[in-house]
Amino acid sequence: MEAERIEEPTARFQKTADFLNAGNTAYLDARRNPVSGKKTARDLIAAAADEIGSTLSARLLQGFGEWLLNDAGKVSISTLNAASLACIQVENWDLAKRLANAVNSVDHHDLLAQRLHDAAAIESSDLSLPVDDWLKDKFCKAPFEQIETRANETVHFCCSAWQPAPIGKLDQKPDRVWNSDVAKEIRRSILDGDYTYCSRWHCPMISGRRLRKLEQMGASSEVMTIAKARNASEKSDTLSLKQTPNRAILSHDRSCNLSCPSCRTKVIQINREQSAELDNLINKDYADFLSAASRIKVTGSGDPFASRHFLSFLKHFTATNTRAQRLQLHTNGLLLDEATWNRLDLWGHVDSIWISVDAAEAETYSVVRRGGTFKRLMSNLRFLGNMRRAGAFSKLRLDFVVQKRNFREVPSFASLAQHVGANGVYFLRLRNWGTFTQQEFEEHNVCDPGHPDHPELLSILADQRLRSPSVELGSLRPFVREALDRQQK
Ligand code: SF4
Repeated sequence: MEAERIEEPTARFQKTADFLNAGNTAYLDARRNPVSGKKTARDLIAAAADEIGSTLSARLLQGFGEWLLNDAGKVSISTLNAASLACIQVENWDLAKRLANAVNSVDHHDLLAQRLHDAAAIESSDLSLPVDDWLKDKFCKAPFEQIETRANETVHFCCSAWQPAPIGKLDQKPDRVWNSDVAKEIRRSILDGDYTYCSRWHCPMISGRRLRKLEQMGASSEVMTIAKARNASEKSDTLSLKQTPNRAILSHDRSCNLSCPSCRTKVIQINREQSAELDNLINKDYADFLSAASRIKVTGSGDPFASRHFLSFLKHFTATNTRAQRLQLHTNGLLLDEATWNRLDLWGHVDSIWISVDAAEAETYSVVRRGGTFKRLMSNLRFLGNMRRAGAFSKLRLDFVVQKRNFREVPSFASLAQHVGANGVYFLRLRNWGTFTQQEFEEHNVCDPGHPDHPELLSILADQRLRSPSVELGSLRPFVREALDRQQK
């Protein structure tokens, strides 16, 4: 009898989970393609949550949620989200947060799980968040002026962690991608102020509250005309743009000389044939399309100086481009020394350089930047700092992904940047690019309020060195706000 009582709910949980897991493919498809004409990702989860609510009592839901969390790695993310939403509907806030976080720990592209977590944290049963109100009258230029190519052959408007829905594929004609149905739907969401496809956690323009009203964002006359027509009582559906992107972020090759644990498990290098294919694609289809872009960033996906393809792109670019300072280089800095600078003839072409560093001390650096040498980095940073001071380019920014292994070095990193001649520092929270298990990610992610080191992180974020105008707090800003609030109490 006793065994039956224990067994019966488990069998029921398994049946419910099996039923819900079967909906995962449809959920992921809807998440990737919001204009498919089928149900939205959120509607699918709402229907699944209703199903849970009609099958399990509040008491059984508690048991079901704990049962799912026990083996969350094997449960689909749509099931975890549906269970989280079902918990919100019965005001079981703590379990709702934990279920949503089980998704957030393995998939940083799931905007619904981020929302479920934040709604549960403030006990908002309709899932509305204060940031939604803030966004209503703000404008972001990215979907009107920018394009980002990704290594999985998709194209986005900005980083896929900030806005996971792709607007097209790399092998499609870029002008069609630029005005695809998804592209227009994303533009609509910005003009209507709902920002449905943008991450409140990872986009620094949102988490850092850096967006302003349309009139203050310096939009082009074409964009102003579209926006005004949309605001008029007779709404215009014309969201296609004649203007081409003003900025391109080329992130379609992950080749790199390092294998940082937060990014990959081993060194990635594409072969000669793959590299030649990319050379051909970018030089043929994208060269014309991006000819009016005033900024071209290489790269958000690996290292420009460790990639055959990007080296070939840069050589071609500096040999043929006649306009000044269009390049933005994002690199780990280890291969960017004076010899590379001269060999690629970067003189006059560079606008800014961003270096991913993640440590202020050699010992930490050797772990978080696996394969890198701190001494060599410091030597290159001094070279670049001197070049920046001499006016060879305008911005040298050092980047730092905050995690358990390095968070105590946050304030000294701001000092180090100043010391080497950088005029910018940028902090961002850790994301899981598929390299950590859920448990590993939870262990490293000190930005999670539930992490045992989170209170210490907050006290570190109140440090005066982070108040300098050259420090950009990116996706860390909400935690800094909290740290300062606590200090004032
Ligand atoms: S994710 Fe951020 S940068 Fe990208 S479109 Fe949305 S608000 Fe703009």
